[in-house]
Amino acid sequence: MYMKKCPILYIVVPCYNEEEVLPETTRRLTEKLGHMTEEKIISESSRIVYVDDGSKDGTWHLIEEYYKENPYVVGIKSSRNRGHQNTLLEGMFTVVDDCDVIVTMDADLQDDIEVLDEFIHEYLHGNDIVYGVRKNRKKDSWFKRSTAHAFYHMMHLLGAEVVYDHADYRLMSQRAVHALMEYGEVNLFLRGIVPMIGYPCTTVEYERNERFAGSSKYPLKKMISFATDGITSLSVKPVRMILALGVMIFLISILVMIYFIIGHLRGMTIPGWASTVVSIWGIGGLQLLAIGVIGEYIGKIYMETKRRPRFIVEEYLKK
Ligand code: UDP
Ligand code: MG
Repeated sequence: MYMKKCPILYIVVPCYNEEEVLPETTRRLTEKLGHMTEEKIISESSRIVYVDDGSKDGTWHLIEEYYKENPYVVGIKSSRNRGHQNTLLEGMFTVVDDCDVIVTMDADLQDDIEVLDEFIHEYLHGNDIVYGVRKNRKKDSWFKRSTAHAFYHMMHLLGAEVVYDHADYRLMSQRAVHALMEYGEVNLFLRGIVPMIGYPCTTVEYERNERFAGSSKYPLKKMISFATDGITSLSVKPVRMILALGVMIFLISILVMIYFIIGHLRGMTIPGWASTVVSIWGIGGLQLLAIGVIGEYIGKIYMETKRRPRFIVEEYLKK
């Protein structure tokens, strides 16, 4: 276990069309970092790292401006939109060797920045990973709350290790990020991979606020694809479930066959139009479903074998 007084903290903030929130976010983060350096909690070489994920609005312009006028701000421009998870990686991997600890957080300040002190405190006490965990979800809509909970339950049932009510607000030490770099997968679900790293870790509770400006960049469609990605990239249980289902149906069909043979021998069969049609549709549907799930995995294997880069840094405004 290694400890370091006054660590260099880099806050990695992915930004996709966030021009509405960036001024306020920058103001609050600058103020917070100012306090923390004054109190010698963190080094004055600490930085805010804005990673522009191919925004279509003026986000990158703002970042360039802040880079010039604000001593804390550095910027990374992604060559195009690659989504939240890849952008987090891009930020972390680009700056990892310049700092001691990295905290990732959203641009909309939904995650309470006041717990940063606690994050650093836990780090100084030997934790390599500190997960920010939401105290409650009172402020979420009923829909978001229940879908999120259903998601965590499903993840657990399927055997994936995820920290309950933890989004991507977390601290990672330099060596934890280096370890994360060893995971070469393209289908990335950080919340599932980070717990696999190991190292001492802990959680810190915080209150999650509403987005103070702009709208969510995670519409339902993205949420569903995120959840599916999480499950299929962390677990092979769906495939095993299909296998079990197949075995079960096969056994049942044998019993049914025996029943019909006996019926036939006793001369009691009737033209079974209904049962034939029903079974054709039933089995057909099941097969399609099974093929779909298997296809999902084959698609992943296909993507993984390509070994494509997960992000390309277009520009790194470094200080
Ligand atoms: N984000 C991103 N690329 C995307 C979508 C989102 O970098 O394609 C960023 C976004 O700018 C924000 C974070 O990911 O900083 C979380 O997005 P958002 O706040 O919209 O999600 P929500 O809090 O509604 O789940
Ligand atoms: Mg948000």
